[in-house]
Amino acid sequence: MEKQVKNEQMEKLTSLCKRRGFIFQSSEIYGGLSSTWDYGPLGVELKRNVKNRWWQDIVISREDVVGMDAAILMHPKVWEASGHVANFHDPLIDCRNCKARFRADKGVFYFKCRQCDYNFQIDNGLISTAQDFRKYFNNDMSAADVEHYKGSNCPHCGGQQTVDLEKLLCPECGSGNLSEARQFNLMFKTHFGPSEDSTSEVYLRPETAQGIFVNFDNVINTSRMKMPFGIGQIGKAFRNEITTGNFIFRSREFEQMELEYFVKREESQKWYEYWVNERFNWYLKLGIRAENLRLRPHAQEELAHYAKACTDIEYKFPFGWSELEGVADRQTFDLDQHNQVSGKKMTYFETETSSHIVPAVVESSAGVDRTILTVLADAYWEDAEHDRVVLRLIPQLAPIKVAVLPLVNRDGMPEIAKAIFHDLKRFMAAFYDQGGSIGRRYRRQDEAGTPFGITIDSQTLEDGTVTLRDRDTLAQIRIAKDRIVKVLQEKIA
Ligand code: ATP
Repeated sequence: MEKQVKNEQMEKLTSLCKRRGFIFQSSEIYGGLSSTWDYGPLGVELKRNVKNRWWQDIVISREDVVGMDAAILMHPKVWEASGHVANFHDPLIDCRNCKARFRADKGVFYFKCRQCDYNFQIDNGLISTAQDFRKYFNNDMSAADVEHYKGSNCPHCGGQQTVDLEKLLCPECGSGNLSEARQFNLMFKTHFGPSEDSTSEVYLRPETAQGIFVNFDNVINTSRMKMPFGIGQIGKAFRNEITTGNFIFRSREFEQMELEYFVKREESQKWYEYWVNERFNWYLKLGIRAENLRLRPHAQEELAHYAKACTDIEYKFPFGWSELEGVADRQTFDLDQHNQVSGKKMTYFETETSSHIVPAVVESSAGVDRTILTVLADAYWEDAEHDRVVLRLIPQLAPIKVAVLPLVNRDGMPEIAKAIFHDLKRFMAAFYDQGGSIGRRYRRQDEAGTPFGITIDSQTLEDGTVTLRDRDTLAQIRIAKDRIVKVLQEKIA
């Protein structure tokens, strides 16, 4: 059961993504397969640019990180060792009234003060109340954290710890007639080979990280990395999520960019802080506005038993603050587990002490699709002054770097434009468009996030210069035809 938050901003973004060929509903002609998405011509370029940027910054540019690419299908024992078979569950609730199924934390929470009856609801991360909530809590209406309000002081009558969770309601029909929560494993099962019995059962990986852990020994033996060092991987992951929705935010098939950074146990805190900081800054470098990003360290009771610390990097999505990436100090849990279950050593030989040690691991786990949603939501701009919608993507991420447009379809302008276009194509993603008025052609490119436009006009015929238009400022300068590639390369870099 999927619940889409009705949110004007999200609807605008989803519709732009479809209109411009960024993202389509999967299997749309058959009515769609909910919560799976296809990336179209612009979307695939944006996705590649995001992944390339991560790979460049996390793997290529660093001397302490190597990459790998593990198979999606792995031995079932991997998931026993990792704890996913036993623990990768979400609490599932059934609504007896409308038969909806939802994750326990995705219900509608109805809070009430037992002293004065002040009440409010939290529905999919958004707070609603009959009274002016803002006045009392002085809080961000979209930043509703259910745990935060359980047992809090009443902002209305001042009662101490009198705000109780009164009831949990179905997010679909609002009924309180719900089943108890039961555990539901999120891994997709399939069969390996021609027989379909339990001996052939395998899982689609729910995260890429385990592919790194099981190859730990292979990687250190072949790459001769010295600690601290990391292994990075980008790849598909699958989770049979109970509640999906909010476009590509939570889907059943998605991609992750994960780094497992191996360190001496006593140094894990230092490296954990380092990676929280590095990763936060990475999003700033993608052009995300700082006021829309925050760090949310996990409280002790939220941590998995083996984790020493964990911080979510959150973005203020149109539907509220939500996780974009998790950075965690996982200690030696993963390597210990594989060591124990496989019987193979998962250790690092420390030359200084001449001993085999199990390194601790600091993990950075980011979603490709969530990064794309973040980048798109942050770039979306309605420029009322010029009556246009603009995706203010940084040039490096923009699917098309430059559009080449002849002002009119005659006087040899299309021929010159085509020659420039073909020249540019050798160096960057360029687009040629001669259909429709110049204003409309610009607007299409603004919506696609194309940072630069080259126009060939009558002056080009006279002096060989073209106009170079900047998407955001709308400033136009004239440059010589033969300087276009160089000027653009400089601007994009
Ligand atoms: P959530 O609680 O939001 O489902 P999670 O805490 O289970 O996320 P992790 O297991 O930490 O997520 O996964 C690491 C990252 O992978 C997340 O920060 C997110 O960017 C991405 N991710 C996880 N599940 C999904 C999903 N169903 N769809 C898209 N991206 C996902």
